[in-house]
Amino acid sequence: MAVNTSQLKDQADLLRRGLADLHAEDFELASLLDAEVSRQHRTLSLVSSSCAVKPRTLVACASALVNVSAEGMPGKRQRAGCENVDLVEALAIRRARELFDAHYASVQSHSASNAIAQVLSALLEPGDTLLGMAHDHGGDLTLGSPAVFTGAYYKAIRYGTTADGLIDYAQVRHLALAHRPRIIICGASAYSRVVDFERFRAIADEAGAILLADISHIAGLVVTGRHPNPINAAHVTVTCTHKQLGGPRGGLILSGRDANTKVPGLRSTFSRVLDQAVFPRMQGAPAVNLIAAKAAALGYARSPAFDACMGRVRTLADAVAGAFQAHGYDVVGGRSENHTVLIRLQGAMTGAIAESALEHCGIVVNKHRVPGETRSSLVTSGLCIGTGSMAQRRLDTEGGRQVIALVCRLLSSVTPLGEQDYQLEPVACEQVRSEVQALCARYPIADYLEG
Ligand SMILES: *Cc1c(COP(=O)(O)O)cnc(C)c1O
Repeated sequence: MAVNTSQLKDQADLLRRGLADLHAEDFELASLLDAEVSRQHRTLSLVSSSCAVKPRTLVACASALVNVSAEGMPGKRQRAGCENVDLVEALAIRRARELFDAHYASVQSHSASNAIAQVLSALLEPGDTLLGMAHDHGGDLTLGSPAVFTGAYYKAIRYGTTADGLIDYAQVRHLALAHRPRIIICGASAYSRVVDFERFRAIADEAGAILLADISHIAGLVVTGRHPNPINAAHVTVTCTHKQLGGPRGGLILSGRDANTKVPGLRSTFSRVLDQAVFPRMQGAPAVNLIAAKAAALGYARSPAFDACMGRVRTLADAVAGAFQAHGYDVVGGRSENHTVLIRLQGAMTGAIAESALEHCGIVVNKHRVPGETRSSLVTSGLCIGTGSMAQRRLDTEGGRQVIALVCRLLSSVTPLGEQDYQLEPVACEQVRSEVQALCARYPIADYLEG
């Protein structure tokens, strides 16, 4: 099908002019944006959620769709002028359904936490009980923490992991049968093993609960067949679009075989109550430019290049776990089955110190709590490493080992002075920083962008 390229060229001219205007007329903001581009190019990100979007996704974010208000669903808008955005949203929905093998997809949620709020508001009454993974044990902050709406509006019961870092399924079952939650949420943001969605569903069925799977962290592995797909095991699945899927900030709500069954206790089906929960209950106009960007990312996620990238995510995770163990570090759970490697730091070294010292030398990585944690969540005793960004930079396993050797070298040149303060040998820091620069130059982000 021919695309009217002159219109797209007008758009490109507009973007170029916007850049020029920014630099000429708002130097304060332009210099901040420049600094961030430079930071992303010159640092190695081992943050488990981080990734760079493809140029086509970026263009969709900055497209003319940003000017459209489109409350409602495709074909059923509150506003005129939606003929094109209707088709864009329908395309995003179709791609999401095909990619996840779903019967139902909603693409309007502004984030995964919004999507979770929408699902819960559709299926629960305030005060109902939910069972989710404790943040301390790798669960996301959105899942039942007392600081978050899930914990504030619902009675949140939390399960955790065993001492070796695996989900304690016996505890999940015990808690589900004891508390009879309306919903069980499975999914984590710092968990390095495969989640057994079928086992969760069996527990949910036994306890009469609805099962919600949150695959925000592993969606890329799921759609390329490297992690089981929860779409039919769970009643409802949510994911963000900006982690492994490489899309814009946003969320998806999906459902498989249960999409057209009645919600227990309600007269409507899952797909109906989920649609209504997004609009009008919880959201006004969707960000249709971001829906276009979701369509772009979902389209790219079907490509052999994306599959190869997810392959590197896995081989790098094995290499990273092995490299830490070779340097004498304890890897929680003994290995990784996805993109995440959680390591336990040694002695007086805290997560806060390691995070700060590494960032100082150009390696960006998050501190994280580990099983049996004794320090506060602002300090912690671990690091959570993800291989997504390294895979996008096309690091091979040898490159991954080099990065971890740099991490270990730097950590051994740090002297902790308490929980947050430390001394860093200046020479070692300079050496690591220049080797990080060399790795960033050898494996540029641009390689991914062109792939
Ligand atoms: C990141 C994450 C979220 C929150 O995603 P946002 O889009 O930032 O709101 C929710 N659940 C899990 C498991 C996550 O990893």
